[in-house]
Amino acid sequence: MRLAMLGPPGAGKGTQARLLAQELNIPQISTGDLLRDAARRHTATGTEARRYMERGLLVPDELALRTVVERMGEGDAVRGFILDGFPRTRAQAVALDEMLASTGQKLSRAVVLEIGDEEIVKRISGRRVCRNCGAMYHAIFDPPRNAELCNQCNGELYQREDDNEDTVRMRLEQYAGKIKPLFQYYEEKGILIRIDGSGPVGDVHRRMLDALKGGAKPA
Ligand code: ADP
Ligand code: ADP
Ligand code: ZN
Repeated sequence: MRLAMLGPPGAGKGTQARLLAQELNIPQISTGDLLRDAARRHTATGTEARRYMERGLLVPDELALRTVVERMGEGDAVRGFILDGFPRTRAQAVALDEMLASTGQKLSRAVVLEIGDEEIVKRISGRRVCRNCGAMYHAIFDPPRNAELCNQCNGELYQREDDNEDTVRMRLEQYAGKIKPLFQYYEEKGILIRIDGSGPVGDVHRRMLDALKGGAKPA
């Protein structure tokens, strides 16, 4: 299974990607996580990426692509993968297809998680992330046992720098500006699936499994 998870910030891409990746025993590849990690380590890529991320802008396609290519090269993605937050532009989608085609592969499905703006704001404002293992929590919907520590690894939980009102507004604008051509691209290929991302995590997960098992035809 080679999936790409699309959807606005806070839709639950990371949460769902992580769940499915564990079940299928394939890697979750999050460009956001990879870029944040690079920024923390002050690599050249990370330092450049940060300038965009802290303003809520997409990083340049070339930078996002380089990040994914590097990660895919690690070898564990040969049996499949779940891309989380990539592609985000049509140009990235084209580049991804070219990269996969060079080894005789192609994307199985592009899954869009759809939720309303009000829910986005609620989800993002309560998001907490483990600095150590990347696990996701929500202050209200999925609180950790200890407000500051990860249930799984005891790592420190933090609130993302870009999860503030102004930056979120910009990220939503960026999403709205780029998403149509991306949807169109995957619709034309017949692999776009739209999933209702509202309701509890388990419900969304089941909807995804149903759709992927071929119950629903791609939108
Ligand atoms: P969210 O989970 O809220 O959707 P991400 O963690 O996926 O956010 O992304 C955070 C930031 O990282 C984005 O606002 C953008 O600056 C950058 N980013 C992540 N993925 C991409 C991508 N595919 N193309 C361009 N920028 C990206
Ligand atoms: P994305 O990767 O699309 O930005 P996340 O998976 O990081 O989204 O989810 C954003 C926040 O919402 C996190 O705090 C997460 O715990 C929470 N969340 C994810 N899915 C749900 C859901 N179905 N119901 C309630 N909260 C959720
Ligand atoms: Zn953790």
